[in-house]
Amino acid sequence: MSTESTSSAFPELHELEGTQLAFDDPTTRHPRISPPEQHQEEPGLETEADPVPDIGLESYRGLGRLQGRKALVTGGDSGIGAAVAVAFAREGADVAIAYLPAENKDAERVIKAIEDAGRTAVALPGDLMDKGYREDLVDSAVQQLGGLDILINNAGKQIVNDSLDELTDEQVDEAFQINIKAMYTLSRAALKHMGPGSTIINTTSIQAYQPSPVLLDYAATKSAINNFTKGLAQQVAPRGIRVNAVAPGPVWTVIQPTDGQPKEALPEFGHDTPLGRAGQPVEMAPAFVFLASPESSYVIGETLHANGGTPTP
Ligand code: NAD
Ligand code: MG
Repeated sequence: MSTESTSSAFPELHELEGTQLAFDDPTTRHPRISPPEQHQEEPGLETEADPVPDIGLESYRGLGRLQGRKALVTGGDSGIGAAVAVAFAREGADVAIAYLPAENKDAERVIKAIEDAGRTAVALPGDLMDKGYREDLVDSAVQQLGGLDILINNAGKQIVNDSLDELTDEQVDEAFQINIKAMYTLSRAALKHMGPGSTIINTTSIQAYQPSPVLLDYAATKSAINNFTKGLAQQVAPRGIRVNAVAPGPVWTVIQPTDGQPKEALPEFGHDTPLGRAGQPVEMAPAFVFLASPESSYVIGETLHANGGTPTP
């Protein structure tokens, strides 16, 4: 009998160290950060946030679960969307990212990571407040990717206001347009190109269930997203297209120091979760990968919570 070691399809444990596949302690897997008080103008650059959010550039290891798929990720330059774009590419997908032109510097890292994974990367900068851009975005992605199987509705605006007196109707309109109304436009356009096995995944929030008193507009858009997700999911399930949502808890991204939180709350950000720390964008990506892959074929209209343990309905 040969004593030669047989090659295995499974990586050795030591090969998993430092990747999202390592079986380490979730309380310490990422540091318990205390971001210093800081401020940037919206939309901000995450490469200038302190600390820089972890979008998985060093740690996300793909398993080929999205081989040959074609995805559009809005808000794909930074934070959760960037982590999703990087993960999707390493899982074998071609990825288009949409973002504001002011975020080009952040987007360049993501484009490079997609290309380094050997996949096609498409950059689609523009403002979702702009009707023309909003209405053409999906078709531009379809044209440049050669089709579309996955839409990630992730772009979002979050601005705190101490009281309703300071919350203008303009801000409410913008939050609803960017966070939820764009989902109708983009999903309608995407569904025209999608076949069975395609998926739409919307980024909602724990704010849908636990609205902060200083986020009256933002939190309401997130409740609307949950409702939209469950309704649309039923409408298109008979076509073999699945719609789901991911509900992050406190995740360290540049949305926070661009007036997404009161400045003085930043050092304690995420400390009140059962896990005791804020999440990192890379920790959100696997939830999106699961919902985009055929492994979740019987999961429809679901909201997958990735929030460090806070109970949700
Ligand atoms: P982020 O700032 O890194 O990403 C948000 C992105 O939205 C921006 O990069 C930008 O490209 C896009 N965006 C904003 N306004 C836009 C506009 N007018 N036109 C086009 N694009 C626009 O922050 P993030 O935390 O990764 O946010 C991604 C999503 O996650 C958002 O929907 C947010 O509400 C949601 N979310 C975040 C947290 C958190 O704690 N970070 C928690 C729950 C939900
Ligand atoms: Mg950004």
